[in-house]
Amino acid sequence: MGKYDALVELLLAVVKEGGDIKEADNSIPVGVSNRHIHLSQTALNTLFGEGYQLTAMKDLSQPGQYACKETLTIAGPKGAIEKVRILGPVRSESQVEILQSDCFKLGIAAPVRLSGDLDGTPGITLIGPKGSVILSKGLIVVQRHIHMTPEDAKRFGVQDGEKVTIQAGGLRGGTYSNVMIRANNASALECHIDTEEANAMNLSSTSKITIVK
Ligand SMILES: [Zn+2]
Repeated sequence: MGKYDALVELLLAVVKEGGDIKEADNSIPVGVSNRHIHLSQTALNTLFGEGYQLTAMKDLSQPGQYACKETLTIAGPKGAIEKVRILGPVRSESQVEILQSDCFKLGIAAPVRLSGDLDGTPGITLIGPKGSVILSKGLIVVQRHIHMTPEDAKRFGVQDGEKVTIQAGGLRGGTYSNVMIRANNASALECHIDTEEANAMNLSSTSKITIVK
């Protein structure tokens, strides 16, 4: 297709979609999460020393969230996993988000939960450079979810707390159900899945999905 033809096609698309390309785009960027740890300041003090401050390494797409230079070893009755990344800032409660296959390595069956929903979850041992912490709860496999603003929710016709089905294209594409909508003003539009879910459908952090409901 020549340059001119491409331009004509683009203009036609603009006319067809009411003059706004952005509005017509209903795709949602994918964010892929590997296993990671959120810490309370109390746990951070024990693991790294009193008053320790996390070292921000890379900003994440959700406002105010960042990956830290610091990592920890997590240990269960069957085995340990080294170099698990800490995400900042510190939270009121420590939480460890692992992959489904990590449950076998560690010997602990973690339930699928939304971040922060920790009642009745199993604990795990965290090992840092200055000490270790035995968490009595907080080990989860995170439930896939989509962050968005209330304006995005209106645009997609969904509500905070609603579960939707998402569709991925490509040769390994398919659908995932039970994807929780998390709509609030502190969010940026992004669908969060873990590395196992991403690999299963050959998705990466440059991929996009759509909601099919
Ligand atoms: Zn998320």
